[in-house]
Amino acid sequence: MVKGLYFHVPFCSYKCPYCDFVSVVDAPVGHEEYFSLLLKELSLYQDLNFYLKTLYFGGGTPSSVSPVLYEKFLGGLSTLVDLSRVEEVTIECNPESYGLEDFRILRSLGFNRVSIGVQSLREEGLKTLGRKHSVRDAIMSIKNAQKAGFENINIDLIYGYPGQGLEELREEIEILSCLGVSHVSFYLLTPYEDTQFGQLYQRGLLSLPDQDTLADMYQLICESLESMGFLHYEISNFALPGFECKHNLIYWTHEEFFGLGVSAWSFVQNERFGNTRNIKLYIHKVKQEQKPIEYWEKLKDKEKIYDYIFVALRTSLGVDKNLIPQLPEGLEEFFTEEKGKLKLNKRGMLLINEILLKLRQEIFT
Ligand code: SF4
Repeated sequence: MVKGLYFHVPFCSYKCPYCDFVSVVDAPVGHEEYFSLLLKELSLYQDLNFYLKTLYFGGGTPSSVSPVLYEKFLGGLSTLVDLSRVEEVTIECNPESYGLEDFRILRSLGFNRVSIGVQSLREEGLKTLGRKHSVRDAIMSIKNAQKAGFENINIDLIYGYPGQGLEELREEIEILSCLGVSHVSFYLLTPYEDTQFGQLYQRGLLSLPDQDTLADMYQLICESLESMGFLHYEISNFALPGFECKHNLIYWTHEEFFGLGVSAWSFVQNERFGNTRNIKLYIHKVKQEQKPIEYWEKLKDKEKIYDYIFVALRTSLGVDKNLIPQLPEGLEEFFTEEKGKLKLNKRGMLLINEILLKLRQEIFT
């Protein structure tokens, strides 16, 4: 049963130098038409069983779309799938997009979680990250969402950007502690290959903090947020008790989810499939009533196990010990065992990619 439904909204008013999400500044399609294509795409999947608990509008910049259009869209959506069991409806917002009235409309439409792309709480940080909003815009955005009745507010922050050291990070955490948000996603800046930062990094022109500083930064983030009462429930995610993101937990506990829109991914009945990242092709295919899938794989037994380990190890829930009866040599120091579950400790979380690689070799040999 599909429990989570994701919508990719690819519109952005500018491209950030670190971003590898599919987003376009000059979209070849209007907002209204794109949203009607999302519904059309959904109607191509008559055979799916939905038991929806969460809806998630991600991007791109979903907040570049008028709340009025969301009203129309949710109306259309409710004619195609049963929304009566939905508990969490999230929209990602950029700080400069929505004002108080917009948040009020969203709240009245049933949105109950906003995720605000703050990225940095220092003006220099925002400038370095190519963001067009100010720290004040970010704080105003949080306050407006709170005033409109949102209790469940996430902010996205980035650490490890050029020019940020431990002192700068401390300053940001100090401001964060006064914001009254219920969830924080703190991501390490990664210079992905096909981004502007990635290109600079490959040419040696992007100066990032060294590995020891990054480890100290991560430790500072974890300790500071935990001392504020946040639960560290996923490598990069912290929530006050009861405010863990239900939608992301569907991904991380290997339950079924379905994604609509350009570049969206799905996992249904042990099949993993992803839509094309080409927006023109997406539009063309859906208009022709063809599924816009570009990548598809059926997970076999071992792949299924590894896939589950891959997502579950990111969380504080851990994985069943019997799936990894014997840890590969040298990995023991990165794990703790609790009630039949293996979990990564903080050092393990920092090295998750290397650890997953070793586990993969172990599982597939
Ligand atoms: S980070 Fe967000 S706002 Fe910036 S380009 Fe990517 S999707 Fe758009």
